[in-house]
Amino acid sequence: MNLTDQTALVTGGSRGLGRAICLELARQGADVAFCYAGNAQAAAETAEACRALGVRALPLQCDVTDPEQVKAMTDTVVKEFGSLRILVNNAGITRDGLLLTMKPEDFHRVLSANLTGSFLCLKAAARVMLKQRYGRVVNISSVVGLHGNAGQANYAASKAGLIGLTKSAAKELASRGITVNAVAPGFIDTDMTAAMTPAAREASLALIPAGRLGDPADVARAVAFLADPQSGYLTGQVLAVDGGMSM
Ligand code: NAP
Repeated sequence: MNLTDQTALVTGGSRGLGRAICLELARQGADVAFCYAGNAQAAAETAEACRALGVRALPLQCDVTDPEQVKAMTDTVVKEFGSLRILVNNAGITRDGLLLTMKPEDFHRVLSANLTGSFLCLKAAARVMLKQRYGRVVNISSVVGLHGNAGQANYAASKAGLIGLTKSAAKELASRGITVNAVAPGFIDTDMTAAMTPAAREASLALIPAGRLGDPADVARAVAFLADPQSGYLTGQVLAVDGGMSM
């Protein structure tokens, strides 16, 4: 892989998978812009770690559910970097609960952050990528979007929706040099999974043939592969990075 001279925007880059993705893209030579919701301290740490790898880093506070903020963010990236060649839709949240007790606002909030936010970022980036006749988009879905999960109807619906978005956009944009793929991580060791109860964690581990939770770097390497200029004939795919969980 070689991402020298590439420019990337990663949503939710301040922590967890997003930070690991920023670092991997930077390690391969890309200049990296990323957004975060509110954790400025974590964002500054990601930016510092990217710069230490010798690339430019641009942290931007942006709520991906707000179309105007998303447009301002992509405009800033293009102004600062001169192009936007890689988009990674990674920002996401959970609001877990069983179907019968799930509040409608928790359903909408998760759909809004995980699915609508990705749509808005993809649309804004696609305008730039169509002019460039080049782009690599990677949407971070989940094995939960492929198989469902009790207590996560909202999250599973958002991640399954992201797969439909990925395949539709891939068909629309393929003739213009733009690929759109999804990565479906299994259970990865981040703040999000740290919130699981010990019992839920044990139950998840039992489903993973590899016998361990994933490391954020496991996912980041898959994203960098899909973001590589040489991956141009690979589009509309869903790559599970899950230790064999969804076989
Ligand atoms: P995380 O540690 O909770 O980090 C979430 C990131 O998203 C943070 O950078 C957060 O910013 C940002 N964010 C949240 N809402 C946002 C919004 N409205 N606008 C902009 N940024 C927002 O999560 P993670 O575990 O790294 O997960 C990252 C992605 O991978 C998510 O889409 C998640 O669904 C997916 N995923 C995770 C796992 C897993 O096991 N961890 C498995 C499958 C898929 P702040 O730091 O400012 O809050």
